[in-house]
Amino acid sequence: MNNKGILIVVSGFSGAGKGTLMKALMERYDNYALSISATTRNPRNGEADGREYFFRTVEEFEKMIAQEELIEYAKYVDNYYGTPKAYVMEQLQAGKDVVLEIEIQGALKVKEKFPDTLLLFVTPPSAEELKRRLIGRGTETMDVIKSRLERAVEESQGMDKYDYLVNNDDFETCVQEMHRIIQAEHDRVFRN
Ligand code: 5GP
Repeated sequence: MNNKGILIVVSGFSGAGKGTLMKALMERYDNYALSISATTRNPRNGEADGREYFFRTVEEFEKMIAQEELIEYAKYVDNYYGTPKAYVMEQLQAGKDVVLEIEIQGALKVKEKFPDTLLLFVTPPSAEELKRRLIGRGTETMDVIKSRLERAVEESQGMDKYDYLVNNDDFETCVQEMHRIIQAEHDRVFRN
């Protein structure tokens, strides 16, 4: 494989602000490409097929698994989520650093397949703030929010597997810190 870019996995609790961070990174720097995942969850208000996600039925998703079109996939609170392979490989070969915004099981699978993957974990300022953001978003029912908070507690046990924890207390600082870490890692991998 002739990759000229690195893979970056960004994980973090639902509501930690990853989506907004990724958007800022993509807008400001043209050396990044954002992988768009496939999912079986329903679109939220304002989400479009092919932009935030490829929204698929369970049947369609399982076909993608069978045809080995995904780099990894996982179940998260009753829905499938997975990373389509073709786009990621194409972008890496074109020299882009490709960002995957995925949860921990998927992160570990990607790291296994691509050992140079940089694993970043975004932490929210506090548990209270996380809850406030999740509820404030107003897109999920209280039941789903509860499942997502439970999952956050579970995921916090895997945080030590990540290369860096980045705190999203101050948005600007966080964007710049992520960019610096990624650049340093890119240069380290391709220094020869
Ligand atoms: P949400 O429903 O809030 O958009 O995403 C729920 C969780 O699924 C988040 O932790 C998100 O990072 C994760 N996720 C999104 N896409 C993928 C993917 O392709 N693979 C895996 N393993 N997780 C994903």
